[in-house]
Amino acid sequence: MQAFDFDMLVIGGGSGGVRAARLATGHGARVALVEQSAMGGTCVNVGCIPKKLYSYAASYAHAFEEAAGFGWTMSSDQHLDWATLKHRRAAEIARLNGVYEHMLASGGVHILRGRARLADAHTVVIGDRRVTAAHVLVATGASASLPDIPGRELVLTSDAMFDLPQVPGRLLIVGGGYIACEFASIFRALGAEVVLVHRGTGLLSGFDEDVRKFLHAELASEGVGFRFNATVRQVRSEAGHRVVRLSDGHEIVADAVLCATGRRPNISGLGLEEIGVDLTPDGAIAVNAWFQTSVPSVYAVGDVIDRVQLTPVALREATVLMDKLFGSGTLHMDYASIPTAVFTHPNIATAGLSEIQARTRFSRVAIYRSTFRALKHTLSGRATRTLMKLVVDAETDRVVGIHMVGEDAGEVVQGFAVAMRAGATKAQFDSTVGIHPTAAEEFVTMRSAITEPHYADPVVAE
Ligand code: FAD
Ligand code: NDP
Repeated sequence: MQAFDFDMLVIGGGSGGVRAARLATGHGARVALVEQSAMGGTCVNVGCIPKKLYSYAASYAHAFEEAAGFGWTMSSDQHLDWATLKHRRAAEIARLNGVYEHMLASGGVHILRGRARLADAHTVVIGDRRVTAAHVLVATGASASLPDIPGRELVLTSDAMFDLPQVPGRLLIVGGGYIACEFASIFRALGAEVVLVHRGTGLLSGFDEDVRKFLHAELASEGVGFRFNATVRQVRSEAGHRVVRLSDGHEIVADAVLCATGRRPNISGLGLEEIGVDLTPDGAIAVNAWFQTSVPSVYAVGDVIDRVQLTPVALREATVLMDKLFGSGTLHMDYASIPTAVFTHPNIATAGLSEIQARTRFSRVAIYRSTFRALKHTLSGRATRTLMKLVVDAETDRVVGIHMVGEDAGEVVQGFAVAMRAGATKAQFDSTVGIHPTAAEEFVTMRSAITEPHYADPVVAE
């Protein structure tokens, strides 16, 4: 390997790239990492972290309202200082950028600044510099993909939402996935009038039907408006506003339009096709089970491949690949039952199969389902409810799906996902003593099974 400048060169200092570089140096490899922008990538700069901070900010709107029910006297002029929130978020992100930078440098990773391009199977060009490596890892992430409509230059992507000059009075959101739901919930709580326009019949396609329906009802009760079965035909600017024409002919006036219609892999200008790296039909980098591309020395992980666009997935892919290249080679990536959360108010968290997926896979399925008003809301006065659902393969009694909509659902489901992955049966759930009083104890106390199909088809909007 000494013939090359480095054993490994990583393009991209986001979730996957940083994890790979750190692990590789830990294995004793000589590693360089190229980043064109702030260290930490999407998650740290314009994704998970600022989004969750804004979600916390939004949760205070509810907390202030609820406090009166517990005897607190709240002043009448509670209001959000958006500038303070932006400033404090930016300071925290800058701190994290520094932490990442320091972590890499102190771990022995050689950091290169600039935009990288592959010149051949082992050579990367950054400006006027050429660097060679035995292995090249492409971890360049993805960017928002906008529908090709007249006026697309007038719409915003999630990147811009964190630094808006003010909270928009009227926000129109296009899409029904993770970002659309999270930003609808956050900006509604921060004071915007929100309308969500989605081409489908319900939110969050692919999630359990009960979860989808429940979230729709919760967001509607918070005042989010919905236009399902509709697409945007045109956006135009009029008197400083955005006028959005829908496929059904209706026009909606908004102060800002957020387009959250998926994210496309960042492959442009990388020189991939020129050196023979195959792409998938959707423009992602095609890789095998070990993240190797059609050029054997070039690998790819994270959002730039066509798997699952989540930070912990990018981290795991990088871990598996580094183990393969420099470690024991015993790890492998398993995409089954990846737990995930949607940070709406209330949160959604899920692991494993939806009811419909389970019914197509197993001959007999038992559903355990509970909806209730959480203890806190008996005094808070808030009408919000919690949904908890277990999907069980009735032949083996194994729990194959866990779903929750409710406060801190992500925190609750993470632990249960371990049990499910370990093959826990419903009987083992039942024999686990609950923690009282919590919402989570419901997962070990649900006793009545529904065996008939609960949802026959995935249409959820009413
Ligand atoms: P990235 O983190 O995007 O990193 C890619 C890096 O490569 C970037 O820093 C980029 O500047 C750099 N780069 C690109 N091209 C070049 C080049 N040619 N030369 C040099 N550098 C280059 N996931 C979760 O698990 N939980 C969440 O709550 C969550 N929330 C999200 C919220 C939003 C609004 C968004 C947009 C995403 C969210 N995600 C969340 C998804 C998560 O952020 C991504 O899955 C994750 O960041 C992907 O990591 P990555 O390493 O593949 O790419
Ligand atoms: P999603 O894939 O979650 O949702 C995209 C939405 O846009 C879907 O409702 C889709 O409809 C719709 N859509 C796609 N193309 C068009 C089009 N041309 N016209 C109209 N609607 C369209 O993507 P997001 O952009 O919300 O987020 C990107 C990814 O980032 C997520 O998939 C997730 O992996 C990650 N993420 C994770 C978060 C978390 O972990 N909490 C938070 C935010 C992002 P349809 O359903 O019909 O396909």
